[in-house]
Amino acid sequence: MLYSETGGSCPLCTKSVLFRKKGSKRINKGYEVAHIYPLNPTPTQTLALNCYQAPIDINSLENVIALCPSCHRKYDKDFQVSEFIKLRAIKDQFLAEAKARASVAEHTIQEQIYEILDRITALSSDELDMPAPRFDASTIDRKLRTGMSPLQKHEIKTSAVTFYIRIRDHIRALEQNDQLAVRILQNQVNTYYLTMQREHPGNKDAVFNFVAQWISTRTQRSLLAAKVLTSFFVQNCEVFDVGSE
Ligand SMILES: [Zn+2]
Repeated sequence: MLYSETGGSCPLCTKSVLFRKKGSKRINKGYEVAHIYPLNPTPTQTLALNCYQAPIDINSLENVIALCPSCHRKYDKDFQVSEFIKLRAIKDQFLAEAKARASVAEHTIQEQIYEILDRITALSSDELDMPAPRFDASTIDRKLRTGMSPLQKHEIKTSAVTFYIRIRDHIRALEQNDQLAVRILQNQVNTYYLTMQREHPGNKDAVFNFVAQWISTRTQRSLLAAKVLTSFFVQNCEVFDVGSE
């Protein structure tokens, strides 16, 4: 588990944590299990960490991380609170990603979404270069007034301006075939959005990206198309208003 959450490279120096000796077929394990909150803190370390709660179980999976041997040695020997904060944040991100992967497995999605994503992906350069229909992005500004970085907000607004009308028209056509399927789809997106919001309160960047990641993983379609569609839902779904005030 600790190896897989690193994605194969040391979280501090990015070097590969598996290696093969020259001429050998065997793969060697080049990582060690490091305690984030020190296993046996010195009195100086305890004092330096007095603002941070010691974990209830020092050996729990939440307090350990795989590091390459040199980063592990450096972390323990030359313990710095700033490095502790950095490693804690990296581990928290790993835990959040693992939780999101579990959520992806739990939350299914209507098959109509394939058609919408394929439609987005199939737009030609000419179509994309065509001036976008008149579209008012002020709703997005209002919904995302707090909790989202300007860069992320800009991406969502750009996608909404380019794609909103096109996706909306396509969804209307789908609704004529099966109105309930589209409503179920919207409810699924809303549920997933709320699940992510509960896990990442006040962090709309994370929520947006986890929703897009879920759509992309479930459908095996590109993350780029999934982000465009998620931007559409930000504009279109009331649920994205929750917590905007
Ligand atoms: Zn390292």
